[in-house]
Amino acid sequence: MVDVVIVGGGLAGSLAAWHLRMVRPGCAVTLLDAGATLGGNHTWSCHATDLLPASQHWMAPLVVHRWPRYDVAFPGRTRTLEHEYWSITSSRLHDVVSAALGDTLRLATTVEALTPTTVRLTSGEVIEARVVIDARGAAPVEVPLGWQTFLGQDVVCETPHGVTHPMLMDATVPQDGAFKFMYVLPWSADQLLIEDTAYADTPGVDAAAARRAIAGYAQTRGWRVREVVREESGSLPIPLGGAIDTFWQGDEPRIGMRAGLFHPTTGYSLPDAVATAEHLAGMDPFTPARVYSEMRTLATRRWQSRGFFRLLNRWLFRAAHPSERARILEQFYGRPADLIARFYGARLTAGDHLRLVAGRPPVPVWRALAHLRE
Ligand SMILES: Cc1cc2nc3c(=O)[nH]c(=O)nc-3n(C[C@H](O)[C@H](O)[C@H](O)COP(=O)(O)OP(=O)(O)OC[C@H]3O[C@@H](n4cnc5c(N)ncnc54)[C@H](O)[C@@H]3O)c2cc1C
Repeated sequence: MVDVVIVGGGLAGSLAAWHLRMVRPGCAVTLLDAGATLGGNHTWSCHATDLLPASQHWMAPLVVHRWPRYDVAFPGRTRTLEHEYWSITSSRLHDVVSAALGDTLRLATTVEALTPTTVRLTSGEVIEARVVIDARGAAPVEVPLGWQTFLGQDVVCETPHGVTHPMLMDATVPQDGAFKFMYVLPWSADQLLIEDTAYADTPGVDAAAARRAIAGYAQTRGWRVREVVREESGSLPIPLGGAIDTFWQGDEPRIGMRAGLFHPTTGYSLPDAVATAEHLAGMDPFTPARVYSEMRTLATRRWQSRGFFRLLNRWLFRAAHPSERARILEQFYGRPADLIARFYGARLTAGDHLRLVAGRPPVPVWRALAHLRE
C-alpha cells in the first residue's frame, strides 16, 4: 500500500511531494494531477525573506530568477527596497519535481472522489493509501472576500527595455475608480512579465481591457512589444473576516489554498506551501487523524495570528472607497523597510501593528472604526 497520496500537483501538492521524497526517501508518495504538467500556468514570486534560510536552500532549484531589489511607485511616492525578490515558474516546478518523483507521479489523472485513505479516479480505478491529502486548490468558502485580480503577459521587446529589477506596484497608472497597478518582472534584456492588477470587489478579469492596459503601459514606458509569448490570469481571494473552519469541511487532510493557507492581504500562498511541506515531512507516523489534526492546527494558528491583516483588508475594501485604496498602500510603502519585509512574510509584531496604524489615517477615522470587528 502507498504511504501518502497527494491529490493535486499544483504549488502546495508538488512542494509537499517533492520535499517528502527529499527528506524521507523511504516514504512511498504518489502525486496525482488532472493536468498534463505539474503547476498549471503560473509565475509564483515571493520575497526571499518570506522563507527561512533552510527553506531558501531546498527551494533554490525552483528559482528561475532572483533580483536584489524592487521598486514601487505611487502618485506621491516612489521607492526602491533592497529586498531580494524571487520567481518560480510552473514549467521549472514541473521539470524539477517530475524528475524527482519519477513513476510515482501520475499526470492526466482526474480524481472523482476521495476519503482520508482512498482515492477514486474518473477511470474507476481506486487507490488505497495510509493517508490521502487533498491539494486540489482553492474551493468556494463562506467568508467575506475582496479580490486581487490580474492578467499578466510575458512579452518580447524589439529592443532592450532597460529594466533591471521588478516593479512590484506601479500605481501611477489610471485608477478608473478602482485600486489598479502594474506589476513588472524583467526576465532578460528584452523580455518582461507585465501584469495588470486590481484590488477589486468582485472576482474575474476583463481580459480585453487588461490587454489594452498592458499595451498602453508598455507604450508609455517606451517598450516596443514584438510578441506576447504567454499569458496568465487569476482572482485571488482576500478575506475580510470569517473563520478558518469554513475551509475545513469534510474529514480529509488538506493543504494549500484549500486549507486556508495563504497570506490574507496578497492572496499569495508560496511561503505557506513551503512551511506546510516542511511540517508534513517532519511528521511521523503518518496516520489520517494525525495529518488532519496537525494540518488543521497549522492552518488555524496561522489564520488566528493573521487577524490584523484581515482588519487591514476591511479598511482597504470596506472603509476606503475604491479610489482611496491606493493611498493606503502609498502610506504603507512609507514605513520602515524591515516592517514591510515582515508584512510580506506575515510575521508582524504587536509593535508593527501600532506603527502601521500610526500617523494621518488615509481614510476617515469614523469609517475605519466602523470596520474594527471581524
Ligand atoms: C496566475 C496566478 C499567479 C499567482 N502568483 C502567485 C505568486 O506570485 N506568489 C504566490 O505566493 N502566490 C501566487 N498565486 C496564488 C497561489 O499561490 C496560487 O494560486 C497557488 O498555485 C495555489 O496553490 P495550490 O497548490 O493550493 O493550488 P493550485 O496550484 O491551484 O493546484 C491545484 C492542483 O490540483 C489539481 N486538481 C484540481 N482538481 C483535481 C482533481 N479532481 N483531480 C486531480 N487533480 C486536480 C489542479 O490541476 C492543480 O494542479 C498565484 C495564483 C495565480 C492563479
